[in-house]
Amino acid sequence: MSTIFKSKTTGYHMPILPYPNSALSPVLSQATIEYHYGKHLQTYVDNLNNLVGDTEYEGMTLREIVIAAPKGPLFNNAGQVLNHTLYFEQFTATPLPKNQPSGALMSAIRFDFGSFDTMKKKIEDASAALFGSGWVWLVQDDSDKLSIVSCPNGDNPIRQGLTPLYGIDVWEHAYYLDYQNRRAEYVKRLWDIVDWEMVESRMNI
Ligand code: MN
Repeated sequence: MSTIFKSKTTGYHMPILPYPNSALSPVLSQATIEYHYGKHLQTYVDNLNNLVGDTEYEGMTLREIVIAAPKGPLFNNAGQVLNHTLYFEQFTATPLPKNQPSGALMSAIRFDFGSFDTMKKKIEDASAALFGSGWVWLVQDDSDKLSIVSCPNGDNPIRQGLTPLYGIDVWEHAYYLDYQNRRAEYVKRLWDIVDWEMVESRMNI
């Protein structure tokens, strides 16, 4: 599991980017990273720290808060901190050859979707179909089956007992500087920067 799921911290922090701000360009420009990571995510982290104080959720892990908190400002900000941590940690400036997974993840994708390309198409279709702001996730369920789920706004599949493996932020702030209204192009270009070893490390195996 991602280390953030294991952290027992009373503060909620920005994830450390595993690449320089400019390293994902031109898929995600330096300006997009500076605004999306540096401004949007920082605001969610600050809001979460302000909202969680003196509540029953203070001291819980981020994962525990996202599962337990009722829908509202605390949940929205905790969900977005978790979502964005998973998002920014799943990219790399040095992707694997052929930009595709291997090992247990590739085996599971082929078993559950038929092929890697079919999985990618299902994620692209779900991203296009999600109206408004939200997230599209490749998830694993309790029986290890993979599927694609869409979540509105700041929701996360762990609320449904699912393990998020790869997530696409389809809020306009994630792509507007680089792609304007072309959400489908943004989703397709992300395939060039996925750290599939990181994604596989999130599997329950
Ligand atoms: Mn975002």
